Amino acid sequence: MERWVSEVNAGWGLTVKVKEQLCDIQSQFQHIEIFETVNLGKLLMLDGIVQLTSYDEFAYHEMMAHMPFYACSRLPERALVIGGGDGGVLRELGKHPELKEIHICEIDGEVIEAAKKFLPETACGYDDPRVKLYIGDGAQFVRKRPGFYDIIIVDSTDPAGPGEPLFGRAFYADLKRSLREGGIIGTQAESYYLLPEIAQRVVRFAGELFKSSGFAQINVPTYPTGVIGCCLATEAGDVREPKRFPEGALKEELRYYTPEIHRGAFMLPRFAQELFEK
Ligand code: SAM
Repeated sequence: MERWVSEVNAGWGLTVKVKEQLCDIQSQFQHIEIFETVNLGKLLMLDGIVQLTSYDEFAYHEMMAHMPFYACSRLPERALVIGGGDGGVLRELGKHPELKEIHICEIDGEVIEAAKKFLPETACGYDDPRVKLYIGDGAQFVRKRPGFYDIIIVDSTDPAGPGEPLFGRAFYADLKRSLREGGIIGTQAESYYLLPEIAQRVVRFAGELFKSSGFAQINVPTYPTGVIGCCLATEAGDVREPKRFPEGALKEELRYYTPEIHRGAFMLPRFAQELFEK
């Protein structure tokens, strides 16, 4: 019998044909499901919301990791990922030998275990000796590390459940305090089509707190509306301008990120520009 799974979000949905369910766990924080799909490889859902598919996760993870890396005005050595339990952002950060320490603070250890078991292509970064894992709330974690990180990437779920504090002004102020001089943040900033108020809110916080900030759009077909944002913000330099470029084998390996797409990602349709100017 055919089986389809749907994400229903803000009153409409995305439906994917699946072959079988690989994982079905209720953790302390959320319902974790992984499916083998017919056309999109594996699919990870948390509380019924698509987090990634094998088909297009490279787009989101490359942009979330490499935009902050290349826009950072100092050569980054220490990075932190908040959320991101599937390991995709870690995997991409691990491609930079310049990084000496890569920390991750994920609230739900069961997401990590499920990803290691069923999504090894995504969760492969955990074996990197530079990676140190902390299980806990990222909002509390950043308060303990003032002036420490060159890059902080917030790869969170939507602002419901455990992700809620990661979309508040106080959290953005704490992120700023946790950066070393010249550091940069990149945060999951939702879709200007699907959740415009949330996208607008985080862009406003970033604009009020940092000298340079902006919403970069990423094309990810399996997120509802096909677009999701990364909000970049720094006190040093322009987030829109990469300071270094991928070279050699990495340049060949990256499938989405290029310096041109980095600059172009900030070019928004007029209605979105106006949303962020309000
Ligand atoms: N790219 C994905 C998306 O937006 O669809 C997000 C992927 S990643 C799986 C999101 C992770 O954020 C989840 O594993 C969740 O457990 C974690 N998370 C949510 N709230 C958190 C918090 N307060 N602190 C740390 N991690 C959190």
